[in-house]
Amino acid sequence: MNNDAAERRDEDCVFCKIVAGEIPSERVHEDDQVVAFKDLSPQAPVHVLVVPRQHRADVRELAHQPEQLAHVVAVAGSLAQKLADGDFRLVFNTGANAGQTVFHVHAHVLASGELAEGEL
Ligand code: 5GP
Ligand code: ZN
Repeated sequence: MNNDAAERRDEDCVFCKIVAGEIPSERVHEDDQVVAFKDLSPQAPVHVLVVPRQHRADVRELAHQPEQLAHVVAVAGSLAQKLADGDFRLVFNTGANAGQTVFHVHAHVLASGELAEGEL
């Protein structure tokens, strides 16, 4: 983890702990900006979360770092290619009233080729 990521850590945040390796997760990708791992309760055959290493509450905050936001989207695309047929749904729940439960920005990547009629 670089210094910038360490500076943006929230001690009470479950995804900061996953990024730091303090809580185990099934990682499918990691680089200097993001960690991606399988969702604990998958809503599709492929359901992974792409999580910036730096703690930011939601995608509204991440939008101030457009290169990081673009990187999250690019990683989502490459994971959909690697783990499924390349097509995917990208979801950022933003705010409690929209179903956000973990307030460390994350992109849900849902894929498998069976999403056209899905409920999500
Ligand atoms: P949200 O509702 O905030 O958009 O999404 C949070 C997601 O994180 C949920 O889909 C939930 O299943 C997942 N999640 C919460 N805690 C953990 C955890 O400790 N490990 C993993 N792998 N996923 C988690
Ligand atoms: Zn965090």
